[in-house]
Amino acid sequence: MTNNELIDRYGRRIDYLRVSVTDRCNLKCIYCKTEDFELLRREDILTLEETARIVKLASEMGIRNIRITGGEPLIRRNLAHLVQMINDLKNIEDISLTTNGILLNEFAESLFNTGVKRVNISLDTLKRDRFKKITKSDRLGDVLHGIETVLRIGFSPVKINVVVIKGINEDEILDFARLTKEKPISVRFIEHMPLSEPHSYFPLDSIRKELMKLGELFPASNVKGCGPAVYMRYKKAKGTIGIIMPMSEEFCDNCNRLRLSADGRLFPCLMGERFIDLKGRLRSGGNDKEIKQLIKDAVLTKFLSPVDSKGNKMIKKSMASIGG
Ligand code: SAM
Repeated sequence: MTNNELIDRYGRRIDYLRVSVTDRCNLKCIYCKTEDFELLRREDILTLEETARIVKLASEMGIRNIRITGGEPLIRRNLAHLVQMINDLKNIEDISLTTNGILLNEFAESLFNTGVKRVNISLDTLKRDRFKKITKSDRLGDVLHGIETVLRIGFSPVKINVVVIKGINEDEILDFARLTKEKPISVRFIEHMPLSEPHSYFPLDSIRKELMKLGELFPASNVKGCGPAVYMRYKKAKGTIGIIMPMSEEFCDNCNRLRLSADGRLFPCLMGERFIDLKGRLRSGGNDKEIKQLIKDAVLTKFLSPVDSKGNKMIKKSMASIGG
């Protein structure tokens, strides 16, 4: 590890930080929260300035790519101000956003102007009734409108993340795939990560066969991103299809990321419960050197492949608290 590079014990270069700006959300998706999920106290949520300070220090150590997430990041007041502060950091090369899309219509333009150039929109169904069932909200129209808005503004790439859940939406895989023929979007199918029962997930290894019903797929390599998706494309399609299999594939080999929760805990891994408390040090007057040491410590405690004692991959935290 040099002064401006973060390398973990397995030689992986860590240059990507996911920043959760709130644990609040305007949807209540059925699969997102553990039973014991409790909202943070407001005073425990980092201020935008505290968040920007952590990102600045991390950027001086090798972090180049930032993804803003939540909870639902677009409900955080003055989010564009945070984006602007991050965009002003000379080492940051890329700022992206993960959102449920409901408020995109309202905020996309200001975020684009302050530095977010690519966006991932989470959408698990194109059917209104099903959307209501999954999210407990009747706002599918707003999400679809938001997708049109970001395409018009010029965000690129625009990705739609579809969590495929057994018995809920696996019959919509082809409807989503069809969208990529007409629109310059990347649809990514993501394996559902069960928060309690380790073996209940719907494996996506058969998904390629299903997708072939719409035509032959070719490898697509020109999709900008920092994550583990494998991309393909139909002949003459404007968009691409990605598959992400955190449960059934070796997902961690190329891990390049850390996760900062809204209350200032730095998580080395999505799976596993370990974290380093940056907020505590920040608020007790910690200097830059001390905070940087904690960031280094987080990198050095990354796992190679987090499984529990029985060999199961387990997510022990709600996605809403860590940002997915
Ligand atoms: N509210 C934003 C959104 O909807 O994109 C950001 C936060 S959300 C927690 C981030 C992503 O995590 C979403 O794409 C969501 O579908 C995904 N997610 C939540 N719970 C999940 C689970 N159990 N397995 C797989 N993905 C999950």
